[in-house]
Amino acid sequence: MHDPRPIAWMNSDLAMFRDAVRRFLADEAVPNDERWQKQRQVDREFYLKAGSMGMLCPSIPEEYGGGGGNFAHEAIVNEELNYIGCSSFAQGVHGTICAHYILAYGNEEQKQRWLPKLCSGEWICAIAMTEPGTGTDLQAVKTRAIRDGDHYVLNGSKIFISNGQLADLIIVVAKTDPSQGAKGISLIVVEADKAPGFTRGRTLEKLGMHGQDTAELFFEDVRVPVANLLGSEGRGFAELMNQLPQERLTIAVGAQACIERAVGLTRDYVKQRKIFGQPMMELQNTRFKLAECETVSRVTRAFVDECVVKHIAGQLTPAEASMAKYWATDQLTRVIDECLQLHGGYGYMMEYAITRMYADTRVQRIYGGANEVMKELIARSL
Ligand SMILES: Cc1cc2nc3c(=O)[nH]c(=O)nc-3n(C[C@H](O)[C@H](O)[C@H](O)COP(=O)(O)OP(=O)(O)OC[C@H]3O[C@@H](n4cnc5c(N)ncnc54)[C@H](O)[C@@H]3O)c2cc1C
Repeated sequence: MHDPRPIAWMNSDLAMFRDAVRRFLADEAVPNDERWQKQRQVDREFYLKAGSMGMLCPSIPEEYGGGGGNFAHEAIVNEELNYIGCSSFAQGVHGTICAHYILAYGNEEQKQRWLPKLCSGEWICAIAMTEPGTGTDLQAVKTRAIRDGDHYVLNGSKIFISNGQLADLIIVVAKTDPSQGAKGISLIVVEADKAPGFTRGRTLEKLGMHGQDTAELFFEDVRVPVANLLGSEGRGFAELMNQLPQERLTIAVGAQACIERAVGLTRDYVKQRKIFGQPMMELQNTRFKLAECETVSRVTRAFVDECVVKHIAGQLTPAEASMAKYWATDQLTRVIDECLQLHGGYGYMMEYAITRMYADTRVQRIYGGANEVMKELIARSL
């Protein structure tokens, strides 16, 4: 389904990596994805396979077991997963987001302890910010990590956590000083197998992305060694803010790949579907709608690519990352809605790819910071 138009940040080495990822996913993800959706999570072994082929943490330095690449490698994995419509595998959360928190804020001992296991797929990682009472307003988190000797005592609950059931390592956003707002927040890393008092709730039933194990997590007097503090005590909010642009650009890259897939699928469908004795593609409305969608796709691709190039050069601003996330995901839901309409009743049947895309992608305007928040951040930069 991938449109072979030139991509600004690609080169011949990256093309080889893309081919390898595509072949791997065709062999290992495509035949299993339906089963993963039914069981509501991917197989743990898939992480090990993805780790050994080098697509789990492709931009973590080789000294920690990663691929030694850059954000372009992450973008390729993200695009290829979206081109095959695999929303089950949360590589973005595990490798593009969580592993980079550890790389950015971990001390040398922490990086050596955790990153090789994340790169190999032996351990799976999650990040737990959102709580039942607060999502957007992160400063208001209620989970507490109160110092007691050489441990923090963690109490609280988290919701909507991707990889929640599978995670071995969880970066928990907690207040180490509840008397403070943003300045009282720290990042505490919980190793699930060494955390009595840590429990997982049910896997949440979602509109789409059925193969992802989105879950509730509970912490009751969980004693976490102070050595598991990531970054500096009280700096957690600033640390989150510094990493969010990469998360937001990742969502934008995935959204753009979905737009391309939706337009490709729909173009193929309307060329073979006959209405009034002629292919639907002959009807002016079909032609105009597809022309609009393809134009949106090209324009969005140009901006997202510009942001990827800037991010690789270390020059992407938080406002630009917000623009990419807001724009690409808003356009995505618009384009998919138009494409689904062109499928008629078949667009409402789960056996059609466009239908699953409709359900899988709606969340993109909400997570990673709701698009309304993106507009606030953009406005602040004006
Ligand atoms: C499938 C899925 C996976 C997720 N994975 C994770 C994860 O791995 N880790 C994690 O920590 N969280 C995760 N989340 C949580 C996600 O990040 C939050 O749902 C999101 O930040 C919104 O928070 P909320 O749901 O509490 O909505 P609220 O904060 O209650 O916001 C509700 C709505 O209010 C509006 N709004 C918010 N702020 C403003 C504003 N400033 N101005 C105007 N309108 C506004 C928006 O329309 C928003 O959608 C996930 C969520 C989903 C659905």
